[in-house]
Amino acid sequence: MMHTAELLEFFKKHRGDAVVIPGRGGRHWVPISDKPSLDLPMGDPAMGGHAGFGLGVALAQPKRKVVLFDSEGDVLMSLGMLVTIAEQAPKNFYHFMLDNACYATTGGQPVPNAENVDYAAIARGAGYGRAHAFTEIEDFKRELPAILDKPGPVFVALRVYPEVQNEPIGKRRPWQTRTKQETIDDMRRELQIKA
Ligand SMILES: [Mg+2]
Repeated sequence: MMHTAELLEFFKKHRGDAVVIPGRGGRHWVPISDKPSLDLPMGDPAMGGHAGFGLGVALAQPKRKVVLFDSEGDVLMSLGMLVTIAEQAPKNFYHFMLDNACYATTGGQPVPNAENVDYAAIARGAGYGRAHAFTEIEDFKRELPAILDKPGPVFVALRVYPEVQNEPIGKRRPWQTRTKQETIDDMRRELQIKA
């Protein structure tokens, strides 16, 4: 199993000028990233929303790599998005999934059938041309550069240690350093997109 912060630290060296949507890895990615104006941390939105958001960004910015760190809880909530992404097949879309086998942001409830699901196989079955699964950091480090060098869409399942939050959601210290609007404004400025 991998630590989310460790795999994101390694990914940082290979991101280039990709737009990064850190998803549920946002609390780790925000302090790690050195290109925040190319990041779209959207907090902890309704479960299932990351993949559709990532696809939309990828289709809107076809010349730029878009890297999403989805989660298994989100993917299960919106399984149909895998089919839609495979159909649209954005070559610039890199769909990573942090799999901690539980719903960590709501207290660690187990995800159904967590130990028996082959998410890479599901992605392949949905029509992704390439899909990988890693449980060990060394394997991930070895393969990541080649994964990012080839065109997408690609799906990469990453088995990570759960970091369960038990504080009531309203009492948690927010990890975001910018509001959603500031985040979007920064990206528009960076990519020279007129509002
Ligand atoms: Mg999870």
